[in-house]
Amino acid sequence: MLLKLCLNLEKRQLLMLKALRTLMPFFKPYLGRMLFVLTSVLMVTWAGLLAPWLVRELVRIVTVAEGDLAGATQTLGIITFALLISYLLRSAGQFINFHVSHVVAFGLVHDLQVAVYQQLQRFSPAYFEDRQSGEIVSRVVKDTVDVEPIIADAVYDFVVSFLLAVGIIIVLVSLNPTLTLLAMIPVPFAFGAVILLAMPMQRAFKQESENYGEMSGLVQDNVSGIKEIQVFNREQQELKRVRHISDRYTGQSILARKLTAMLFPSIEGATGISIVLVVWFGGQQALAGNVPIEDIVAFVLYLTMLYQPLWTLLGTAESLQGGIASVNRIGEVLSMQPQVADAPDGIDIDRVKGRVAMEGVYFAYRQGVDVLRDINLTVEPGQTLALVGPTGAGKSTIVSMVARFYDPQQGRIRIDDIDLREMKLDALRRNLSMVLQDVFLFNGTVRDNIRFGNPNATNEEVIEAAKVANAHDFIHSLPDGYDTLIGERGVKLSGGQKQRLSIARAVLKDAPILILDEATSSVDTETEAQIQEALERLMKGRNSIVIAHRLSTIRNADQIIVLDEGQVVETGSHEEIVTNDGLYARLVARQREALAL
Ligand code: ADP
Repeated sequence: MLLKLCLNLEKRQLLMLKALRTLMPFFKPYLGRMLFVLTSVLMVTWAGLLAPWLVRELVRIVTVAEGDLAGATQTLGIITFALLISYLLRSAGQFINFHVSHVVAFGLVHDLQVAVYQQLQRFSPAYFEDRQSGEIVSRVVKDTVDVEPIIADAVYDFVVSFLLAVGIIIVLVSLNPTLTLLAMIPVPFAFGAVILLAMPMQRAFKQESENYGEMSGLVQDNVSGIKEIQVFNREQQELKRVRHISDRYTGQSILARKLTAMLFPSIEGATGISIVLVVWFGGQQALAGNVPIEDIVAFVLYLTMLYQPLWTLLGTAESLQGGIASVNRIGEVLSMQPQVADAPDGIDIDRVKGRVAMEGVYFAYRQGVDVLRDINLTVEPGQTLALVGPTGAGKSTIVSMVARFYDPQQGRIRIDDIDLREMKLDALRRNLSMVLQDVFLFNGTVRDNIRFGNPNATNEEVIEAAKVANAHDFIHSLPDGYDTLIGERGVKLSGGQKQRLSIARAVLKDAPILILDEATSSVDTETEAQIQEALERLMKGRNSIVIAHRLSTIRNADQIIVLDEGQVVETGSHEEIVTNDGLYARLVARQREALAL
């Protein structure tokens, strides 16, 4: 048990050290203010120590006054005044501490939030695919905010009460070392009880928060899937699951509070025993005339304050631990190397000609499972390359690699003869436009969303791009035209409309290389014709790599690459490979059948 306790404490210390290492660089801008807080903490501690001392003086002059009432009254006045000053100083110090430590803590939260977000933006999409978005959001928002109370309250409160306890012990020893030793007897027991109870208590609180997460997850899931629950008559089972988790949650929460409640008597009891010991033994010595009565009074007053750090430790342990866990999660994100590293002194090209070449490219998302094997392809400027193949063949992976969301494990990808790894990411992405199937629109106006392609575009240029993309007419018919709010909180757009906005973005960006993922979902014939026309305009004069599904697009391409299970199986123009009687011929035949239906 003791060994486990020691190991646990050691593990905790390590976690704390790790957290400190993460936070260290962030403290730098705040060192001056932190020093200021520390000074005022000392002031508050000193003022806190002064009050019982003054009361001791009061008792002393009352007991020794004996006739010199005028003199005693004057001393009483001085004591009262000193007491007033000490309380004023304490109050002022507390204000400064509270305010400045929160300024520091929130400043730190701000810096952490920005740093974590900035770091996240550097990660390749693989990082985000492997994690739930809620978890990532919580890294930026919740974990950083969790650091605030540990900096502003937990550490500060603990430092104040710890200093106070040390001060008290010094004063007590200077008053009467023997009595101090006596009064200290229960201290180790109180500490022991706190340490022993704290562990199961924290475990219970941790379980409570886990249950809380599980409960919210389940309710959220069930609310989203309410149709399925109702149609499949699953209400009773789901209710049972919710009730089960809720029961567990209640049990854990009550257990956690019960353990907390058990801690109170340990500390209160220790305080009480210390006082009883002082009153009994100190009282006897006072009766014998060996110890002045005012010292006993001061002893009792100081003892009531001695156990304060233990209370504080208990009060803040939870947030302290939560905070440390959060800091360590933040540390993990901050120390993670993005899979795709930007070359700091890489080549910066304003506008490439657009020749794209893949040479012997191998790639695996997971080690050992090759998704692309020995891919070789070249797209000359102004040409269109159509990638064709069954689902899972690796088409999207190829285009993701051209945008350098992933680096090849073997081989290389070059644009204008420059290896992508030697080019600044900024420069590469400046030269690329992507029009994907799943168009993401940000909360904002239509205009903002198109302007995403080029933030400096004028209103006229936005409208011009929308016209090229065949989007102007439908935008015009929206309630507020280009100022209509879209995205989650605004007007819902159809798939075809979203695609045209995405084309308008790409038109506005005017990048030499275009990556296109042709939509598979069907839109009505007229919309499809409009989208097709817009795409043809967009592709003109650019170097395009198209994940093609439509026969017409494939036929018009300068070059077709047929992929199967991560390998190029056929390559050439439509006429060249349609007669091969291979995968391409079969895909074309199937497409024709589908059209005939
Ligand atoms: P296509 O676009 O031709 O349908 P993809 O490039 O999307 O094919 O997928 C190729 C293979 O890689 C598939 O087996 C797919 O399951 C796998 N894959 C795609 N994306 C990921 C990912 N993020 N993590 C792991 N495997 C992936």
